[in-house]
Amino acid sequence: MVERWSDDCLTIAWAWNVGNHLGRAILRKDMKHAILLGAVALAGMGLINPPDRKDKVVHTDAEWRRLLTPEQYRVLRQAGTEQAFTGKYWNNHEAGKYLCAACGLALFDSKTKFESGTGWPSFWQPIAASRVETKGDQSLGMTRNEVVCARCGGHLGHVFDDGPKPTGLRYCMNSVSLKFVPAKPVPASH
Ligand code: FE
Repeated sequence: MVERWSDDCLTIAWAWNVGNHLGRAILRKDMKHAILLGAVALAGMGLINPPDRKDKVVHTDAEWRRLLTPEQYRVLRQAGTEQAFTGKYWNNHEAGKYLCAACGLALFDSKTKFESGTGWPSFWQPIAASRVETKGDQSLGMTRNEVVCARCGGHLGHVFDDGPKPTGLRYCMNSVSLKFVPAKPVPASH
């Protein structure tokens, strides 16, 4: 806490100092100096920006409409649900990883996929807890936990507590929100 506070003080002092010099350079009409100080300020702002914020994938609604197919947009951006047993992956048994269809973040591994009998691809655990976020969802008269991609916020599906061991969780996903990437085949030995 103290460290954070002193960091903030240093940042403010640094910004004030650079800003002060920049202002004086502009007043002196010393453009060479002003451009140099402006570049220092921009570089500093890049350093101050926390790295986790840079990692987020953010698009406007119009951009998402352009980037996604209509069905992907309906599910990922409007929290829709694909019809059971119609998606590409509920019956996929290949080894590989399932990425977010919107931003490409690796979300689930085939090693944690199981037969839920629901008609939606189901997993008992994401690749890392930080890859997904869950939030309460009261829609359709039910209380469920919505699962979204931690990087782009795209709707993936819901998580329930009736899954298999070891977690007891069932991540019920929409195929349309995922992109399957098969594992590289092991080279045959001679
Ligand atoms: Fe994503």
